[in-house]
Amino acid sequence: MRIVADLHIHSHLSRACSRELTPQSLYRWCQLKGITVLTTGDFTHPKWIAELKEHLESAEDGLFALKKEPARRVDDNIPASCRSQVRFVLGVEISCIYKKGARVRKVHHLVFAPSFEVAEKINKALEKIGNIRSDGRPILGLDSKNLLDIVLNASPEACLIPAHAWTPHFAIFGSESGFDSLEECFEDLTPQIFAIETGLSSDPSMNRRISGLDRITLISNSDAHSPEKLARETNLFDTELSYRGLFDAMKQKGPGRLLKTLEFFPEEGKYHVDGHRKCQTRLTPSETIKRRNLCPVCQTPVTVGVLHRVEKLADRPEGTTPRQAAGFEHIVPLKELIAETFRVKPGSVKVDRQYHRLLNNFGPELNILRELPMERLETEFPLLALAISRMRQGKVSVQAGYDGEYGVIRALKESDFVKTEEPSLF
Ligand SMILES: [Zn+2]
Ligand SMILES: [Zn+2]
Repeated sequence: MRIVADLHIHSHLSRACSRELTPQSLYRWCQLKGITVLTTGDFTHPKWIAELKEHLESAEDGLFALKKEPARRVDDNIPASCRSQVRFVLGVEISCIYKKGARVRKVHHLVFAPSFEVAEKINKALEKIGNIRSDGRPILGLDSKNLLDIVLNASPEACLIPAHAWTPHFAIFGSESGFDSLEECFEDLTPQIFAIETGLSSDPSMNRRISGLDRITLISNSDAHSPEKLARETNLFDTELSYRGLFDAMKQKGPGRLLKTLEFFPEEGKYHVDGHRKCQTRLTPSETIKRRNLCPVCQTPVTVGVLHRVEKLADRPEGTTPRQAAGFEHIVPLKELIAETFRVKPGSVKVDRQYHRLLNNFGPELNILRELPMERLETEFPLLALAISRMRQGKVSVQAGYDGEYGVIRALKESDFVKTEEPSLF
């Protein structure tokens, strides 16, 4: 079956995360977005795992459903147009900070477990290494390879996927504290790595320039810190609804497949190009090289972004795709597109009202963005229909993100507003 799976989020117990990240509200937002399987995030946190045990019950093999009673309390708040089944899979993000090869490494990894028993086994081992009780995304002085070893020892079905692989400061290939290859990081355990998360600032076409990743499945997730951000990047599978169904598809084993990832335009990500946020300097990789990595304003080294880092590790030009690789599609959050049509901020009340009105009428957000025939929107919402069509065709203008500042994607042009204000004349 078709499964939309978002495999990287956080709970209300992670630093800088919304208090709304509760089992009920995640269940509700999965339906508003069109997600079938969502990771729980944060399973190492004792309070979160207790909350999960209280609210979830076993469903298909390795997956969990929200229990009837807590579900009933939010069901009224979900439009009929969006209602669908939601499953959870146990996952967590772990931040490993350690020294290797005379350099400090800071690498984030996603870890998944097929059951509470396995999750608790992992937690028990990690608790011996550091504090897992203060933050939903624990920071451990643990070598990535040792983490992988702990995970595999807990169960052969448990697994590790390097998170937002190119982010400068906290990623396996990050420019600041990462590695140049999977092998450098995981050594003889490298064959156990079957997927990486590309992160918001890169897309598969960039990653496929590195031949060392040919056997690796590229996945994309939201890394949501609030429920509204769920599925801003996500994965579309055609596989059995089970833990094994999902992970075998990523391992390219068995009949299931990852069909495609739904992705930000990579320029929208916070670290696409190089620069200094505090100096408001945005540099392309070639400009950075020309300036010997120094910021033209403060003369200190700039943050080297994802595009530059990919360029550095790439061993072939753009355009190569391994035969078995999944496709991808660029999307823009619906609220951003609505905001453009109103010329207001995506966080405004007006946008929120319109967003929920659209969901009521046309179903979940991903459905509106990807599948809804635009004829159904055109009469009532001509500018939005235009914006969505442009997004689908990739005809957007971009201002790339850098050094922690999101990029800006625009689907509409000034002239579009003149044209659609005119119809009253005819
Ligand atoms: Zn992270
Ligand atoms: Zn600067």
